[in-house]
Amino acid sequence: MKILVVEDEPKLAQFIEKGLKEQNYQVDVAFDGESGKKLALQRNYDCIVLDLILPNCSGIEVCLSIRKADTTVPIIMLTALGTTEDKVLGLDSGADDYLTKPFKLNELLARIRALARRKERPMNDEKLAFSDLVLDISTKSAHRGGKSIVLTSREYFLLEFLLKNQGRVLSRAEIAQNVWDISFDSGTNVVDVYVNYLRNKVDKGFSTKLIHTVFGMGYILREE
Ligand code: CA
Repeated sequence: MKILVVEDEPKLAQFIEKGLKEQNYQVDVAFDGESGKKLALQRNYDCIVLDLILPNCSGIEVCLSIRKADTTVPIIMLTALGTTEDKVLGLDSGADDYLTKPFKLNELLARIRALARRKERPMNDEKLAFSDLVLDISTKSAHRGGKSIVLTSREYFLLEFLLKNQGRVLSRAEIAQNVWDISFDSGTNVVDVYVNYLRNKVDKGFSTKLIHTVFGMGYILREE
């Protein structure tokens, strides 16, 4: 596992680097946004730990550039401020997860493992389908009615979870637990935000909507 850490506070960067190396990860560290972006685009990382506020180029800009080039490398955003707006801003730019500073190293390690597990799922030719929507697990790509859909990795896992549970109402807590590995925190609207992203990609422009809100309960994939 090769991990890139982009963090401008030397002490924190060192702390993370040491912790990751103790887990036998290979670690590269960048101390500003520009060099982080350069490394991320040059090398093939299994995970990127990205600080939000960086000199030269913010974590958001770095994240957007990475997503333009590679939609699947897992990115964990480190934010100093734990407001929902900050989290959503980070996730909006394509990050898969976020951690609020100060955080415990164990928590970062757990998040990295969770993201890596998903990335390392065995390659196969399996496809998940519902109506005219098809998700190809081996290429992590989706299409609907011949139109290809580009997904960020978090959107992919959310869609995969919905497809595996098609026809069943999924609560926000259940989705958060399975897609984010977090117990549901009612202070965040991350699930709703991501369901909306998916809707824009999956249902927009189609007369038959597949992703439905069940008022007071959650979401369901069904044809109506
Ligand atoms: Ca910083």
